[in-house]
Amino acid sequence: MQTKLVSYVKRKNVQSANKMKDIIKSVHIILKEEKELNEEELQLVKAAKEATFRSYAPYSHFQVGAAALLNNGEIITGSNQENCAYPSGLCAERTTLFYANSRYPDVPVKRLCIAARGTSGEFTQAPISPCGACRQVMTETEHRFGVPMQIMLYGTEGIYFIESARDLLPVVFEAIE
Ligand SMILES: [Zn+2]
Repeated sequence: MQTKLVSYVKRKNVQSANKMKDIIKSVHIILKEEKELNEEELQLVKAAKEATFRSYAPYSHFQVGAAALLNNGEIITGSNQENCAYPSGLCAERTTLFYANSRYPDVPVKRLCIAARGTSGEFTQAPISPCGACRQVMTETEHRFGVPMQIMLYGTEGIYFIESARDLLPVVFEAIE
């Protein structure tokens, strides 16, 4: 098991002092090998991997699967669904979260695992990383239920564990309340 630390720096103009101030946001990524996973984590990886085989990706040939473990123990899966009108398709992460949230609107998502297979048909070596739009939806899922959603990004060489979706989008767009 290894730990990575990725830092984001945002410069903010501090009016009173009339000078720039650095705001540093960091994310801890824990890298585990598959043999280090517990039974619950292994089950979620298996579900995400299986979901890649239900992907509809005739254009990119990049088959992504996602599996969400809900607080009620249910596992919901989804895959990327493409369309010849390209923007009409949807990523596996959003397919999964929208399905989970529409089926169980009151149940928080405890953990989300993502896996992908490329044109070779093999699972990616490096952990698959969600796109920006999916990160936005993931952070709103957390915000909606008020609990962090752990993210597992699967690769054959290791699995990234990130404690909260918000860590993947440090300066997130939020509704002003
Ligand atoms: Zn996406």
